[in-house]
Amino acid sequence: MHKLTINRARIDLAFTPKTPLLVKSGDKGAQLLHPERPDLMCVRTHHGARGETVYVPGSSLKGVVRSAAERVLRSLELPCCDPMNHKSRCHDEASKRGDAIARGREAAGSHPMGEVHGMLCLACRSFGSQAIASRVSFADAYPTEQSHARANHTETRNGVSIDRMTGGPARGKLFELEVVVGGDFATSIHFANFELWQLGLVGVVLADLDDGFVRLGSAKTRGLGRVSVALSELVVDQIGAGGGLAGVGTLRSDLVDSYDLLERDLRGPSGEARVSALGQRLVWKGNEACRRALDEVVERAWPTLLKRRGAAA
Ligand SMILES: [Zn+2]
Repeated sequence: MHKLTINRARIDLAFTPKTPLLVKSGDKGAQLLHPERPDLMCVRTHHGARGETVYVPGSSLKGVVRSAAERVLRSLELPCCDPMNHKSRCHDEASKRGDAIARGREAAGSHPMGEVHGMLCLACRSFGSQAIASRVSFADAYPTEQSHARANHTETRNGVSIDRMTGGPARGKLFELEVVVGGDFATSIHFANFELWQLGLVGVVLADLDDGFVRLGSAKTRGLGRVSVALSELVVDQIGAGGGLAGVGTLRSDLVDSYDLLERDLRGPSGEARVSALGQRLVWKGNEACRRALDEVVERAWPTLLKRRGAAA
């Protein structure tokens, strides 16, 4: 399944800080080069003709969305491993099996990676593990051209370190943090060979982000990192000609058993239909239409997803 494209999707969106945002630079060298800058600085990069800019790396976005998605899965009592706890990591066994199959030492059927996929929890199936690649990828988020100056007009806030023993402020431990207070950060989320529940899962996390239940960056307990999210376009390409939005199991029911897929006959909403290289393209434009489409995906996919309740990861 991973060598061919059965379906793919792209969500274009922009987020805007509602409270100050700090996405830390892990670069100690920057501090040495610019001792006048705050202790905790925003991460920066060079971006095209506009030169240096603050930005939010795709890896940071993915980390936030993955951990929020894991919380959703656990709340619904769905299989979800804890990557930090090696006893509950589902991918160790799956990686071993994948390696053995890759080395050709063990007989494999016509879909050798299907068995590995079936061994993984729902978070690892969606966001990847050592055993398989992620179904979802996140592009770096850069300020839009119009908001480049506003985004880069950062402010400095004072922070106080907390004494771990007393829970009060630690004496003499003031530090400065640099925060982004404006601008619109545009990015895209890409999906490949996904099931509808996976698109829906990212959709609910994006809604939680916009509602302030999920935040971005550092110092979230200090109230930082609340953002609003505006979706601009949802584009889905899938094989076949008609019908609404569909996951891989519906488009290729012959793969359902080999990969232990959740959905077999499940269709989502129909957007504006066009042709694409794969067969069919469905397009939704504007925040309202995209949000409605993702809500409908959740409504249709959740009953099937919830049938996996209590299943082992
Ligand atoms: Zn897992």
